[in-house]
Amino acid sequence: MNNPLRPEHFAREDDGDDALFYDFARLVTHIDDDAIAALSAHYARTIPANADVLDLMSSWVSHLPADLVLISIGVLPNTELAEAAGLEVGNGIVVDEMLATADPAISAIGDCAAFPCRHSQRNPTRLEAVQNATDHARCVADRLTGKPHPYTALPWFWSEQGKLRLQIVGLTGGSDRNVLRGDPANGEFSVFCYREGHLLGVESVNRPADHAHSRRLMTAGRQISPEQAADESFDLRAAAAARG
Ligand SMILES: Cc1cc2nc3c(=O)[nH]c(=O)nc-3n(C[C@H](O)[C@H](O)[C@H](O)COP(=O)(O)OP(=O)(O)OC[C@H]3O[C@@H](n4cnc5c(N)ncnc54)[C@H](O)[C@@H]3O)c2cc1C
Repeated sequence: MNNPLRPEHFAREDDGDDALFYDFARLVTHIDDDAIAALSAHYARTIPANADVLDLMSSWVSHLPADLVLISIGVLPNTELAEAAGLEVGNGIVVDEMLATADPAISAIGDCAAFPCRHSQRNPTRLEAVQNATDHARCVADRLTGKPHPYTALPWFWSEQGKLRLQIVGLTGGSDRNVLRGDPANGEFSVFCYREGHLLGVESVNRPADHAHSRRLMTAGRQISPEQAADESFDLRAAAAARG
């Protein structure tokens, strides 16, 4: 998937007063010692670019019995067919806001499509997530059936990592202020990510209600302030449900 919990999210000790100090890797290993979580944590934090992966893995997991170790890293879009068709290809097959390539007979959707995303300043964006793939499909289906419209869906993501339910709404890259709601110590918290006071997205760990309310809030184009986000007594549900 899009890996919204990017490596730079795992350690923010240098962020000054706004630092969240939440350390996903430490949290995972603290509350869940199963092998998947431990590997994820180590892997996200510490792998050097030129590391010998097998050596690293064997040193990290020497205490874990295993019949088979499967290492899967990264995703590359298959763009060869588009290239052969003479279409523009960058980080994926380049499409416009209607998800059409320069050839009006060819659209690209899902993981392989680089589209101008309204939730990322219309920068070419390629997402790897089920929501994106299915909403892309709906958008193109609408166009093909005579109801054309630009793709505007709000991105959201989820993943289960051991006991951790990770849910993200919005695209949080480029945030300049990250506000904590909840308590990392008990493994349930959300991070509200802002840029220049504008809520970009919310990343939640074991806080499904935060995710649901934030999605509703952002889908409606509404905002809450960083102070409201940080205040546990602030009624997020009511803010999400408010009209106008
Ligand atoms: C291990 C893993 C875990 C994931 N977990 C999550 C998750 O928790 N949450 C989430 O939202 N997303 C998750 N994803 C991402 C999600 O699966 C993808 O975003 C989604 O499947 C993308 O759908 P798609 O239709 O764009 O591409 P795909 O599902 O990859 O389908 C593309 C199809 O096109 C076929 N194909 C490729 N080239 C050609 C060709 N030249 N001719 C004919 N057929 C071709 C492929 O074989 C494939 O069947 C995960 C992905 C992986 C790999």
